[in-house]
Amino acid sequence: MTGWGGSRWAWRVALGALAAGLACGAADAGAVEAGAESTTVILLGTGMPVPDPHAQGPAIAVTVGARIFLFDAGAGVERQMSAAGLPVRKGPLTSVFLTHLHSDHTLGLPDVILTSWVMGRSAPLRIVGPRGTRSMVRNILAAWSEDIHVRTEGLEHDARGGQAARVIETDGGVVYDSAGVHITAIPVSHGIWKHAFGYRVDAPGRTIVISGDTAPSEALERAARDADLLIHEVYPEVRLQAEDRAGGEDWVRYMRSFHTSDHELGALCLRARPGHLVLVHIVRMGGTDEELMAGIRAGGFTGRVTIGHDLDRY
Ligand SMILES: [Zn+2]
Ligand SMILES: [Zn+2]
Repeated sequence: MTGWGGSRWAWRVALGALAAGLACGAADAGAVEAGAESTTVILLGTGMPVPDPHAQGPAIAVTVGARIFLFDAGAGVERQMSAAGLPVRKGPLTSVFLTHLHSDHTLGLPDVILTSWVMGRSAPLRIVGPRGTRSMVRNILAAWSEDIHVRTEGLEHDARGGQAARVIETDGGVVYDSAGVHITAIPVSHGIWKHAFGYRVDAPGRTIVISGDTAPSEALERAARDADLLIHEVYPEVRLQAEDRAGGEDWVRYMRSFHTSDHELGALCLRARPGHLVLVHIVRMGGTDEELMAGIRAGGFTGRVTIGHDLDRY
């Protein structure tokens, strides 16, 4: 567990400013002693589309010293950052990474862009995502153009242009490499989505892999080989059946092509051998924790498994 006390935060912010400069290639990468920074993972939101008040929309923060990397921006993301004790003023995010553009993973993107600006961000927010991200960001800013006008031209005096974002669309590969932190986008298979990614974070002392939404993925499995932490979506195999609703006859086909069952994940982890598997984005269909655990074991994985909850830290 990492504390976020004020005085401790001050030097972290100083390091963060330096790291941000390094990300632009503005300084010598050796200037930050990577080994001195600790890495923490915070599950900000472990939910999926169902509006469960105990599981906010998908979002994971990885902090390395003063740098904050945000993976997905589900509903409630800025409030969850605040609940986690992360700073929300003056644009503290180093970079946002989107796994894909499904609404449950991006409903908080206007929140991240606009709230961070209202809270004092003045530099463009760096957003990495699949093709389509630039258009989504442009349309978010267009949708809130009246708000942006009122906040800059009225008595609030928010920074003109401070709402800006710098979008980097990726097809996979290295998306961040600075001062001891190396982040790679891994193309995964999420049904008919043309572009969906998991991410691997190589940080000082820790390797973290985030699945995003995916059916069993060989690329992700390779990336997760011997990772310290694999954070993966899942559903319980024993609960999967056609649903009694319009289109419900395709539910099984949908789940099999878009998502990963506990049996499949257990088998994947048996091969990849992550140090610790954390389950998030659980499409439960009424399934219990015990059923999920039994499903993972049935797949063959005998290592450490945790059911993730909002605001858990690793
Ligand atoms: Zn999702
Ligand atoms: Zn999805």
